[in-house]
Amino acid sequence: MHELSIALGIVRIAENETKKANAKKVEKIELEIGTLAGIEFDSLDFVWSSAVKDTVLENAIKKINVIYGEAKCFDCDTSFKLDNIYDACPNCKSYLKGIIKGKELLVKFLEVS
Ligand SMILES: [Zn+2]
Repeated sequence: MHELSIALGIVRIAENETKKANAKKVEKIELEIGTLAGIEFDSLDFVWSSAVKDTVLENAIKKINVIYGEAKCFDCDTSFKLDNIYDACPNCKSYLKGIIKGKELLVKFLEVS
């Protein structure tokens, strides 16, 4: 499952940061995930507890900030909400667009102790 490797990647980041800070564990982790990043939020929740078991993240509070997709049309310059990466511009129906937001996948904040 693709979400498991994402969760393990997050664990690796958290372990590096915790080591750098000379801390033992993570109290709180805040993630920023875009709706266009190709991640199933339910699947990520599902694999999370097994991914973090026996790691610095085991008892951390996890908060996910969902970043909704946004694009700008190349043809008419309209900015619009993008629920699906293949959606057309609601103004001129063009498929040529630049993604402004929604592909994020990052660890925004870590509180260690
Ligand atoms: Zn347009």
